Amino acid sequence: MRTRDATGFRPETLTVSHGYDPASAMGAAKPPLYLTSTYVYPSAQAAKDVHRAFFDGDGPQAGAEGTYIYSRLGHPNLDMLERRLSALDNSQDAAGFCSGMAAVATILMAHLHPGDSVLQSLPMYSGADALLNSVFERFGARAFAFSDGLDEATIRAVADRALAAGPLRLIWIESPANPTGALVDIALVGSIADAVAKQQGFRPILAVDNTFLGPLLQSPLTLGADLCMTSLTKYCGGHSDLIAGGVSGRHELIAPLKALRTLLGNHMDPHTAWLLLRSLETLHVRTERACANAAAIAGFLETHPKVGGVVFTGLAKAGAPQRELMDRQSRGAGSTFSFHIRGGEAEAFRFLDALKLLRLAVSLGGTETLICHSASTTHYAVAAERLADSGVNAGTLRLSVGIEHVDDLIDDLAQALETV
Ligand code: PLP
Repeated sequence: MRTRDATGFRPETLTVSHGYDPASAMGAAKPPLYLTSTYVYPSAQAAKDVHRAFFDGDGPQAGAEGTYIYSRLGHPNLDMLERRLSALDNSQDAAGFCSGMAAVATILMAHLHPGDSVLQSLPMYSGADALLNSVFERFGARAFAFSDGLDEATIRAVADRALAAGPLRLIWIESPANPTGALVDIALVGSIADAVAKQQGFRPILAVDNTFLGPLLQSPLTLGADLCMTSLTKYCGGHSDLIAGGVSGRHELIAPLKALRTLLGNHMDPHTAWLLLRSLETLHVRTERACANAAAIAGFLETHPKVGGVVFTGLAKAGAPQRELMDRQSRGAGSTFSFHIRGGEAEAFRFLDALKLLRLAVSLGGTETLICHSASTTHYAVAAERLADSGVNAGTLRLSVGIEHVDDLIDDLAQALETV
């Protein structure tokens, strides 16, 4: 876990109380849920002042009593959540969205122009990959991908190709990546962004999808990233009962996202923000338990004869490049990883259908352990060749380890493997 940050408190303390002041709500120990779509102004002049503040950034800023307008433009629960997320990510500002994909789409829409190039890592969450390579390609932005996130020469070569095709405006990386957990060296890509800045006169925005580790295990902004995007649906929400996204970064990069959010209407609603404030309180406890369970399960699978390999940085030996990178840029390996069943789809399906405790579902980061067959579910729409490049085959399964008793999880995996 991280040590103290600029607020003077450790993350385990920030997750519990930061961002909410009981004095703002009649002393209520816990944040009230502000279920209202609109806010009443004390006077016509106050209404004008608050609109001036919102649109011109001039006058009283939203956040205090009497400064809210309409929930799509901002609301108290969203402000609390954004303050907490921003502190956890070590950033100046944060913006909350109604999903991780809403956050991704808003970043792309706010910062890309027709003719721009994008440099991206592979593998990448299939939704974000599809958005970038189909929808945004239609709008004139072209993505160039690299699949070895530790290989400086290859990343530089792909960056040069991207630069030759148009201004390189954005670099989008995911580390660890969905579904394999492959790492990208965030500081290395930051230095490549610096080199690109010298060539084209401005630095591409470096955005990191931090969903697989979340704010307690990795802080991309301290490693040279400009934006940190997190699907809060996963570990931060932590109970598989909400959908949300967040982006942290400097004011000048977050402000356009908030402005666009009010036009797209893809803000986080009060109830989701309230649930997240509550979920964040236990993030560090859930993280510790899930990581310990994942390490034990990966060790069990690694030596099992029916398993053809486990892709988990937590298993990498001391001195291995992935291990060194993990130790350098994160505070743990997380608790979602992939493994390959020997055989192919038929063997993988037989194994999945034999499980009794583990639940067969997409998504990750909940208290319960979930498992899915990547090629036929989360990455169904990804071309076979692109999947193979990313190390996903017909026997690849993604496991999101929860906080149950680890022996029960291992027993269930063992009995299902017997059926393969
Ligand atoms: N990024 C990653 C790595 C993901 O795994 C996901 C969803 O699975 C997303 C982004 C999208 O998040 P959401 O489902 O909250 O829209």
